Amino acid sequence: MDGRMEVLARAREQIQQCMKCGNCQAVCPLYLETRHEGAVARGKIRMAVDVLEGRLQPTAELEERFGLCLTCKACEKNCPCGVKCVEIVLAARAALAATAGLPVAKKIAFAGLRARRLFDGGLRLGAKMQGLALKRVPAPDARRPSRAARFPIIGLDMRRVIPELAAVPLRDQYEEFNPAYGPAERTVAFFTGCVNNYVYTDAGRAIVEVLRANGCNVVLPMEQHCCGAPVYTSGDLPLAVEMAEHNLAVFAEADRKYGLDRVVFACGTCVVSFAEQYPHGLPLGAEAKARAEALAAKSTDVHPLLIEIGALEKPMGRVERKVTYHDSCHLARSVHVTAEPRQVLKAIPGVEFVEMKDADRCCGGAGSFSLTHYELSRAVTAKKAASIRATGADTATTGCPGCRMTIEDGLAQANMDQPTLHPAMLLYEAYVKAGTLKP
Ligand code: SF4
Ligand code: SF4
Repeated sequence: MDGRMEVLARAREQIQQCMKCGNCQAVCPLYLETRHEGAVARGKIRMAVDVLEGRLQPTAELEERFGLCLTCKACEKNCPCGVKCVEIVLAARAALAATAGLPVAKKIAFAGLRARRLFDGGLRLGAKMQGLALKRVPAPDARRPSRAARFPIIGLDMRRVIPELAAVPLRDQYEEFNPAYGPAERTVAFFTGCVNNYVYTDAGRAIVEVLRANGCNVVLPMEQHCCGAPVYTSGDLPLAVEMAEHNLAVFAEADRKYGLDRVVFACGTCVVSFAEQYPHGLPLGAEAKARAEALAAKSTDVHPLLIEIGALEKPMGRVERKVTYHDSCHLARSVHVTAEPRQVLKAIPGVEFVEMKDADRCCGGAGSFSLTHYELSRAVTAKKAASIRATGADTATTGCPGCRMTIEDGLAQANMDQPTLHPAMLLYEAYVKAGTLKP
């Protein structure tokens, strides 16, 4: 066997567990759109066997076929044999990237992502210049400006509606150490993630403020960088390791300096990187692995933390909204956070919570998937928009900024004007209305 197929060979045990029953077909969002066996877990497992046994050669075309997966884990949840299908898909992508190489567009994008300062500078410049390449369009949420391309841009469909980059990134709005309002009971570091830092600063601010109002010192390590998930899921393992090691060093230093009780996340994908990929998925060196295990034990999505610190018992004003909630695949199926966001929403006076059909069905975003396969992604997102419409809710919520961006686009495409918010933003609003927090 080709030595470069080692990564895939390590997934052989998982591959052999598949009994080809086809249960995964019933739940795979991409199979439901395409009716193509190559889109579903069983088909990809079959291809992985053929690659391992030399019947399929690692080519760019094969890479494209393994790219056809949202990594949503719906198949895993429905698999009677417990096959870790996403692990197999990611192993195949890594093996193919190492042999056939990454597509040129991804190579360029990842080269930009690799250099933290360049990436940061590029997004700041983008915030200033976004009016040149993008035009303002009516937004799904009238309070948030949105944009669409003025002319064809690689990777951006001209129909797509995207939120504006924030004028001031979240981490620039705070110090590294932000003391609790009142006596401090714990110190938490906030891994903001790229989208909450550069786009959805409204969600980030709400989280920092609500935590500070509940006895948390909030540390925002300024040197943190993208968690590396787009790189990891595309199969570029060496760069994913480099990015993980950077973040682990930054947060280990914050832990040494401030004595962290928790590391908190407001993004399903980022929390999975720290809680799952860093300690278990990536081939890290011994020092980074020890850091990864220590930080994984402290890592939590923000919703369970809000409940734990008593944030739902603070005085709250009424927030008169009919609200529904979309489960991010990563939050629901990787770190099993489903009850807590609903608990947060239901605790807010005035909020009428209404469950949508298939709340945990993937929204179709899946990181760069929606850039490379917009048509297919859009078809999946349209189903999410229809589920939201059927609830009659005036507000959609989700715990993941990637899903938020996808749903905002889906609602805009469906001519719907419901805002899509992080649940903590409604908690913040309730705190402000009660005078628990100043606006
Ligand atoms: S449900 Fe599981 S065992 Fe059945 S075909 Fe899909 S991956 Fe294989
Ligand atoms: S992870 Fe999601 S998109 Fe990929 S095969 Fe499984 S169900 Fe289909």
